[in-house]
Amino acid sequence: MTVNYASLLLATAISGICLAATMMGFWLTAKRDSFKLTWSLGVLTLVAHVLAYTLYAENPHPVIGAFVVALLPLGLSIIHGAAHQFVQQNPSLNRVAVTSLISLGLALPPLALGYDGIAFIVQNFAAAILLTMSGHVYFRHRREAPTALALMAGLYHLAALSFASCGLVLLFGQQWTLGGVPENWAERVNIVVAILAMTGAGALSIALDQTRLAQLHKAEAITDPLTGLLNRRGLAQMTAGQTYGPFAAVAIFDLDHFKSVNDTHGHAAGDAVLCDFARILDQGKRGRDIAARLGGEEFALVMPRVTDDQAAATVRRVCAMLAAETFEARGRAFRCTASAGIVFGDDARPGVDALIARADEALYAAKNSGRNRIEIARLAG
Ligand code: GH3
Ligand code: MG
Ligand code: MG
Repeated sequence: MTVNYASLLLATAISGICLAATMMGFWLTAKRDSFKLTWSLGVLTLVAHVLAYTLYAENPHPVIGAFVVALLPLGLSIIHGAAHQFVQQNPSLNRVAVTSLISLGLALPPLALGYDGIAFIVQNFAAAILLTMSGHVYFRHRREAPTALALMAGLYHLAALSFASCGLVLLFGQQWTLGGVPENWAERVNIVVAILAMTGAGALSIALDQTRLAQLHKAEAITDPLTGLLNRRGLAQMTAGQTYGPFAAVAIFDLDHFKSVNDTHGHAAGDAVLCDFARILDQGKRGRDIAARLGGEEFALVMPRVTDDQAAATVRRVCAMLAAETFEARGRAFRCTASAGIVFGDDARPGVDALIARADEALYAAKNSGRNRIEIARLAG
């Protein structure tokens, strides 16, 4: 069996269609990351370029040539847009339009003047530049998944090198007019590299998408959806294995008469109060402190590096800020207060659970003493 140039072109087109279909399928099942849709459209444009190229090899008509020359930079501009979308969730339509128009503006005039060789040279250099820029976007963002993104960048740069070689062979051969598709070693290498880079980039994109999905699920599992604070599981994860000496404190907050806030002003108003208190807590905490919603209207603040006075001052400030807020629901204004229990770590270096349990007892003492107050406890002997 011999593998000729036409079969390689066909293989490129088929693998491109399969890849685009797979990526589009991924996008359709969860329309989360529209980068996959953009990338598929870019690959389909490249497939159209390959088909036009095959046609031009049979029939070098200038109109077909125009499609060949136009579709490659257009497809690669869309793929470059997809790279930006991958890192910053921004469709960058302007960028796609600008890079496409510049490439077309440079490649089409020589074709119209009968210099199809020059048009192919320009098209190849435009492709090399667009691929280099795309590779660079992934490389700059490699911190998210170093190996996969460095590999992705490598594939784009390899493809760029291959297109640049095609351009250079024509340039050094001074092949200004061809009357057909260019035929040389660089073109044959290019088609193999194109299949490799396209399938490799597709597979890596899918792997990266799965990594992102796993990270998203992990973050969701430890986040309270209403307030955005850590939930109880998140707090447990962040404090796992930690012990708390004398310069550490834990505070537990509970909103006062919160049931009556819901009953009087509605559940939505209650939710608004919870979100506001979460914001106050988050803004009121210091660098290493960890704020979490333990459940219902109960919150925790773990302060791993703090003096007793600083801890008490922070808790007082948070409660005072809530008490100073005026909420509004159904045309009526209302206020809400919180009570808190604070406990300090000691030389026995307890874990967070023991501190939370003791701070909870202090909180109930605060409730029993009339609410809207803070109670400080020490760990027993
Ligand atoms: P106390 O001052 O003794 O703490 O009284 P309380 O009314 O705040 O305490 P209680 O435990 O009786 O009521 C807590 C209320 O918090 C009951 C529940 O409906 C409400 N709650 C729990 N989670 C949510 C939530 O996510 N949103 C809203 N709006 N309310 C919630
Ligand atoms: Mg309460
Ligand atoms: Mg409660």
